[in-house]
Amino acid sequence: MITQYYRPKNLTEALTLIAQPKTYPLGGGILLNQFSNEEYAVVDLQTLALNTIEKKGNLLEIGATVTLQDLLDNAETPDALKKAIKHEASLNTRNVATVAGTLVTSDGRSPFAVIMMGLDAKITLRNSNNEEENIQIGDFLPLREEITENKLITQISIPTNVESAYEYVARTPADKAIVSATLTQWASGRTRLVLGGWGKSPSLAMDGKGAEGLEAAAKNATHDTADQWASAEYRQDVAVTLAKRCLK
Ligand SMILES: Cc1cc2nc3c(=O)[nH]c(=O)nc-3n(C[C@H](O)[C@H](O)[C@H](O)COP(=O)(O)OP(=O)(O)OC[C@H]3O[C@@H](n4cnc5c(N)ncnc54)[C@H](O)[C@@H]3O)c2cc1C
Repeated sequence: MITQYYRPKNLTEALTLIAQPKTYPLGGGILLNQFSNEEYAVVDLQTLALNTIEKKGNLLEIGATVTLQDLLDNAETPDALKKAIKHEASLNTRNVATVAGTLVTSDGRSPFAVIMMGLDAKITLRNSNNEEENIQIGDFLPLREEITENKLITQISIPTNVESAYEYVARTPADKAIVSATLTQWASGRTRLVLGGWGKSPSLAMDGKGAEGLEAAAKNATHDTADQWASAEYRQDVAVTLAKRCLK
């Protein structure tokens, strides 16, 4: 339960505030506004000008407090990312949820985390000394709780000079994926396959030159994924189909 609310005017002030015990950055507040027995303070990030989306060279720089709907509406947002955002949340949630809050609370079934990992997004943070730190999403997601301690995500950057696709299989079109796949190809031939639909974070199946070995990579990455939603054999089969569909 939120018992104290701060609205800092700059990053330095925000970083000082989140260094206090039980004081968390507030994005859209979807998670932090839930009923909880824990009492905590929140630091609202809305006046820190982190809500911009800018194309710089071959990068799209997305501020931490940009909402999922703002990103969906932006002309520079790749179609595959738009598809994943629509799959992530309904309109009401998209209008409130921020990109940083969504990544921090994501799991392996989150379409947004899957596509961001497929795009090999770079996360920019400010540490308690107000210094900038950058980390690739594949290193960020598994350790996000430790990494964000006393730090603020300020930006997420994705490449724009790539071809990407997002495909999934779910019980219904709006349901969370049982298996999802995203394939990204750079002009250099670099090809990256990320799969989702289980566990705490998406899984990197392949990152190499060209698409050779794509099917084997999809199969390997799903060989041990049985849970209450699907058997590993089912996921292996579907992952191969989705990877090939993305490649097309
Ligand atoms: C009950 C419930 C129902 C939900 N329903 C749906 C749903 O229907 N559809 C759906 O897609 N999702 C749903 N979600 C998940 C929801 O989408 C995510 O929780 C949401 O995207 C988080 O975004 P936010 O900006 O509101 O995060 P917040 O609630 O503001 O923050 C979430 C976490 O991220 C941290 N954080 C936020 N910004 C930063 C930053 N810049 N730097 C570091 N840390 C940061 C916060 O401190 C907090 O720990 C639900 C969650 C809950 C709890």
